[in-house]
Amino acid sequence: MDEYLLEVRGLKTHFLGNKGEIAAVDGVDFAVKKGETLCIVGESGCGKSVTSMSILKLLPPEGKIVEGNIFFKGNDLVKMSESNMTAIRGNEISMIFQEPMTSLNPVYTVGKQIGEAIRLHQHLDKKQTREKVIEMLKLVGIPAPEKRVDEYPHELSGGMRQRVMIAMALSCNPELLIADEPTTALDVTIQAQILELLKEIKNRLNTSIIMITHDLGVVAEVADYVLVMYAGEVVEYCDVKTLYKKPLHPYTQGLLNSLPKIEETKEMLNIIEGTVPSLYDMPSGCKFWPRCPYAQDVCKKERPKLYEKDNHKVKCFLYRDFEKGEINYGA
Ligand code: SF4
Repeated sequence: MDEYLLEVRGLKTHFLGNKGEIAAVDGVDFAVKKGETLCIVGESGCGKSVTSMSILKLLPPEGKIVEGNIFFKGNDLVKMSESNMTAIRGNEISMIFQEPMTSLNPVYTVGKQIGEAIRLHQHLDKKQTREKVIEMLKLVGIPAPEKRVDEYPHELSGGMRQRVMIAMALSCNPELLIADEPTTALDVTIQAQILELLKEIKNRLNTSIIMITHDLGVVAEVADYVLVMYAGEVVEYCDVKTLYKKPLHPYTQGLLNSLPKIEETKEMLNIIEGTVPSLYDMPSGCKFWPRCPYAQDVCKKERPKLYEKDNHKVKCFLYRDFEKGEINYGA
């Protein structure tokens, strides 16, 4: 078990909505080693962000973890008290959110906001905190950090603000960084710089990263492993090279086929027909069958298991002949 920094096992997170209880995350398993980057991919509403908020136990009042375990360094966060979680959040596990302008407080300087996190967890005095903030701004490549430390978020560009968010998330040397669509709001050149920065940080500090994204271009850039989610479930899980070389699940194949290819001059891009089902009205059997070009009768009646071969896991009846694998992380 010690091999993994984080192990999520059988996680189920439900929400109480106005039409009843819904399973936003419906039995998710994965694990992350030290210094590894796992990308969680899928369309909006597939449960990727709820998974990450479950790890931090930052769910809204209507959401709750109903089953499963989240082992972080061997301790189950699901069973952990709120005071112990507070000590872990921002310290050992940090999060970078999608939109830096809404995550940063406009009335405080960036120095004060980064300093807040440092002071809370590291008990430094004012002078030491300021020095640490400047060091963090330097680490994330912000020019003239001695000047920027006293600026307000609106005085910085979008890319700089996202660097500030990363500096804030890294300020307490977290072992795990969760980045929820960290580049979605940025233009492509800034996006490339931020991804490069995250890769550099991972290599320099050996930080483990969970990156939540809908963008397979981002996945190709940063991932070691990829977890593809659909309607609250894991449908495919393998290393990044295997995913691009030999995607097995029809949903993953559809996602990859819908990427524009430079050699193709077609006016229309390939799309996955249909839409993600409503969490209130899940199809019986395989949740993907209404959109799947290979759906068979059995797919409409029975739910496939996560079949496994050579560390490649896929939830699809087409791979029933794979040696059946209960997920085993070597614990
Ligand atoms: Fe398609 Fe059936 Fe596989 Fe589901 S189980 S992805 S419907 S072939």
